[in-house]
Amino acid sequence: MANKSIILLPMLLLVSAVAMCLSEGAIVSESSSDEGIQRALSSLAAGRHEEAERIASRVAAGESEGAWRAWLIVATARHRLEKYPQAAEAYKQFLSLCQSPSERTYVKEQINRCRLATDKSARPVVVSELLSAKQRAKLSTVDNRKFTESSEHFVVRSHNSELAKLIVKQAEIALRRICRVILAGQDYPHSVNIYVWSNAAQYRKHAVSAPEWSGGGFSLRQDKNGQFIRRIDLTQLGKDGLFDTNMLDRVLPHEMCHLVLAEFFGDAPCPLALNEGLAMMAEASVDNSRVLLAGTALLGDKKIPLRKLLMAERCNAENAAVFYAESFSLTAYLHKRMTPGQFREMLTHIKTGCPLEEAIQRALYVPIDETFLKCLSTAWEAETLRQWQFLNALD
Ligand SMILES: [Zn+2]
Repeated sequence: MANKSIILLPMLLLVSAVAMCLSEGAIVSESSSDEGIQRALSSLAAGRHEEAERIASRVAAGESEGAWRAWLIVATARHRLEKYPQAAEAYKQFLSLCQSPSERTYVKEQINRCRLATDKSARPVVVSELLSAKQRAKLSTVDNRKFTESSEHFVVRSHNSELAKLIVKQAEIALRRICRVILAGQDYPHSVNIYVWSNAAQYRKHAVSAPEWSGGGFSLRQDKNGQFIRRIDLTQLGKDGLFDTNMLDRVLPHEMCHLVLAEFFGDAPCPLALNEGLAMMAEASVDNSRVLLAGTALLGDKKIPLRKLLMAERCNAENAAVFYAESFSLTAYLHKRMTPGQFREMLTHIKTGCPLEEAIQRALYVPIDETFLKCLSTAWEAETLRQWQFLNALD
């Protein structure tokens, strides 16, 4: 009994396939409930969540010893199917019989996640969707004067007073979400200068770091006294001469996330895929075209295999779209599968120089195994294809 309680949780953490590889044969089929649990776990690992839920529910309803543990599989399957209230119910069933402190902590975190997922106030707000046509028109004007607005962490300069006010407010909201939700508890006791340039030409002329194709950039530099200067440059108007809502919803939080990560990792090598993936997660809404492209790429000859994705230090014009799509998909997958505490620990291990696969295994307290990356790849691809099918079915 004690043995099983050690085995089941790692099996459900992060990727069932990974853990199954690690503990293959560990669950001996002594009873019908063990056999059922094993089958439900196999379904879960293969991304067949409805099937896993069905099998595990049958086991959990049974009388045999240890059958109650199947509630954790029921809960996990429902959680992955985004049936949050039902998942929370199953987690509570498990919790009512579970004595293991580590499992209880894990399950309580999952219940909290289910609650957050249904809590509208915890979701990012797509501000541009709330703007009226009149407000957008106002935000498209460029004054000769420069306006400055300040808040706890930001000093915003713009040639539009309304825009300066809007950005200083949204910047605080985005920073809070990046530090609390995405990076799972990062401090940021710093001040950042945000410069909003009226158009692309002005942006390229003045921004400190302005790649030709970008509408925004960040920089973290030290002045001659060794003080860090933190800066974000943005562009107010799009090619059509109107206020670029993309800047507010995507570019601002994206570049801010890069800035926070640059300071957190310092000189430690963070995989580009994780860095870009987190920055895309910071954006105000999920771009479904990325999810679709990741699925299409994994099915076709444009696929970037996981090992190559993690080793990439830059991407070229030909594979940039697939690189970004897969990076987003992988990072969102890890973020969803790990608890906030585990995710935070993974980032800390990367900071000390661990490769990503080792950092994940350390964060999960599972033995370091060389087949881990292969198993992670299988599980991530299965989940990406499940989302791809789901979005295609909606079309
Ligand atoms: Zn980026």
